[in-house]
Amino acid sequence: MTPESSSSAEAEKVVKKEHCENHANCMKLIQMALDGEASPEELEHVRQNLGNCLPCNRGYNLEKAIKQALQLRVEQKAVPQSLVDCIKSKIHEL
Ligand SMILES: [Zn+2]
Repeated sequence: MTPESSSSAEAEKVVKKEHCENHANCMKLIQMALDGEASPEELEHVRQNLGNCLPCNRGYNLEKAIKQALQLRVEQKAVPQSLVDCIKSKIHEL
């Protein structure tokens, strides 16, 4: 362990993961966080995940959009089915 070798590693930029090896688990945590059911540690974990994991980032935004759409439907009963279908089809592209 020389100072030179460790400093070159630190200079590397943080690159977001393109693939999540633990996506099912990530999405469970994300859903809990959106539902307000996650513990502070879990929320922190989700926050870090969103910062460095692309699939989790996309999944979070989709989950949020779905929740907002459902919320609108409950309140106004007027969300077009096409919007719901559109969001659902995006999920399968993840
Ligand atoms: Zn992830």
